[in-house]
Amino acid sequence: MGSVAVIGGGFGGLTAAAELARSGHAVTLFEGSSTLGGKAQVLHSAVTLDTGPTLLTLPEVVRSTFERIGASDLLPAFHRLPLQARYTWAHQPGRTFECFEDLAPTLASAQAFGEARALEHFYAEAEGIYRSAGEPYLEAPLEGLPSFLLRALRRGPASFLSGMQLGTLDALAYRHFRSPELRQFVNRFATYVGASPYQASAAFAMIAHLERAEGVHHVQGGMGALVRALHQALERLGVDLRFGQRARWESRRRELVAGPKGGEEVFDAVVVNADSLADEPLGTRELAMSGYVALLEVDRRLPLAHHHVVFGGDYPREFGELFSGEVPSDPSVYFCHPAATDETMAPAGKSGVLAMVNAPALRSEADALRWPEHAARLRERCLKTLLSLHPALRRAEVKVLGERTPVDLAARGAPGGSIYGFLPHGRLAAFERPPMRSKTPGVFFAGGSTHPGGGVPMVMLSGRFAAQLAQEHLLPLPSRGEGRGEGRTPVEEALR
Ligand SMILES: Cc1cc2nc3c(=O)[nH]c(=O)nc-3n(C[C@H](O)[C@H](O)[C@H](O)COP(=O)(O)OP(=O)(O)OC[C@H]3O[C@@H](n4cnc5c(N)ncnc54)[C@H](O)[C@@H]3O)c2cc1C
Repeated sequence: MGSVAVIGGGFGGLTAAAELARSGHAVTLFEGSSTLGGKAQVLHSAVTLDTGPTLLTLPEVVRSTFERIGASDLLPAFHRLPLQARYTWAHQPGRTFECFEDLAPTLASAQAFGEARALEHFYAEAEGIYRSAGEPYLEAPLEGLPSFLLRALRRGPASFLSGMQLGTLDALAYRHFRSPELRQFVNRFATYVGASPYQASAAFAMIAHLERAEGVHHVQGGMGALVRALHQALERLGVDLRFGQRARWESRRRELVAGPKGGEEVFDAVVVNADSLADEPLGTRELAMSGYVALLEVDRRLPLAHHHVVFGGDYPREFGELFSGEVPSDPSVYFCHPAATDETMAPAGKSGVLAMVNAPALRSEADALRWPEHAARLRERCLKTLLSLHPALRRAEVKVLGERTPVDLAARGAPGGSIYGFLPHGRLAAFERPPMRSKTPGVFFAGGSTHPGGGVPMVMLSGRFAAQLAQEHLLPLPSRGEGRGEGRTPVEEALR
């Protein structure tokens, strides 16, 4: 058994720390701030609001992680949402598309646009993409394109080719749908990875399949409850938690050292959950999008869906602006209203609402200075959009509890405030992510920028993979693979 430093307490670091401690290693976790969770923070007022992630896909990855670390008893309940999301259009009152867990009402909703059959065909193709490209990608730590190609080929040449011949997400949407509304529904999945649908691979259609097949979930008490459960699990596993310690690591005289400057200690392995792009100067490379968030308390219980997206008028222009570094002039607004599902999120007669608008990552220090002005404009846009959805609601009934801008995200270590760090634009972007394995032996990366990518279940898988690599570094060969899933993919294993 060895000693391991984990640098950063986001979902990736928490998972890696728990997995390694459960395997018997002595784990020290350094978190630069005073709370765990990273981007997954919570605001408690009369209402409870997650300020970061809200929507959980692939719940079995989370469930199986808690099983693996012996903490199933701590796992909060998950609610599967029958209405997964409602979509409306700011400039077309009355137009609505609703996506349900059940396919039949979703197709009925698409039929209002004459697109029921097209949607069915789209979902079939999205599933094919997931089976041929998604599963092999999520199967194991990514150690280069050739190993992925071998895994993909094992699924058969036809499947391999269907996974490989991919254009952009928008091209796929265009091929399936005539209505701009349904194309917009598909294109929005690129924002789950902070990308533009006009430049990201059609492979991201697999997210639509996963939401349909595995459901859209809410964690009872919010994502903050999941962070608290992991915190408890780490304490129970004896992880040494060091708060308020921004750590660094290096190889010094053939030893690995990690810890706050001047207070480094020697470890056998290090897992870095700080974004692997955080050390690059701003402007070095184009980053995935950031976001603006307004946290609202409403003095009445709104009939708002749990997830509601109000699209702006011109999606190509919106992404054109975003990837030119501008705050969109006519942005789409996403609302999350957790009390629609979970009574513990707001008292009777109140609603807590998170409103979010996509925003460009910061490209320079000067960009940061303009955010007070951008925030004022986006705040008004969010409030106006919410009021337009509820004509009886008065402005005086809505209190702005707080806001989060790219500058806030950057202050917590996200490069340029980018939510997902690495920008997956281009057909082969998935293979160009910063590697999980550092050039320094014994140092591994976990988190949104590295494999397999951003989003809560993905970074939990990344924490699992980093722990696996660290474990292989620490233990002699015969001990490897103990307790693992006999060649099953983590997702397959999770879904068993
Ligand atoms: C507004 C918003 C909405 C989102 N919505 C969703 C959603 O609905 N569903 C979803 O699945 N995902 C969503 N996400 C994305 C999701 O939150 C992230 O992909 C995920 O939480 C990132 O986890 P991570 O492991 O990469 O670490 P991070 O959350 O980035 O945490 C890294 C941690 O490391 C610490 N750290 C950094 N450097 C150091 C250092 N040198 N020393 C010590 N500590 C350090 C930081 O303080 C931080 O706590 C959203 C994110 C945001 C911001």
